[in-house]
Amino acid sequence: MPIYDYQCLDCSERFEALILKNTPPPTCPACKGAKLEQLISMFAVDSEGTRDNNARGVRAKNAAATKEFQVEQIKHEREHHH
Ligand SMILES: [Zn+2]
Repeated sequence: MPIYDYQCLDCSERFEALILKNTPPPTCPACKGAKLEQLISMFAVDSEGTRDNNARGVRAKNAAATKEFQVEQIKHEREHHH
């Protein structure tokens, strides 16, 4: 999915925008400004704290979701082997 991180140069708002081929350039959701800086993907190595925290949060969420799925699978199998 072509989702890009942007930061508004006017108000420093950070947001993500889904950019498809025919999507017009995004504008800031906070101030409607068009002066945006496209940020590098949050999976890139970056020493900036906030972005690191974001990436960790996403990874933790994914890990939790995977674990939940596995637990459901195990429950399901147990029920069927009774
Ligand atoms: Zn803005």
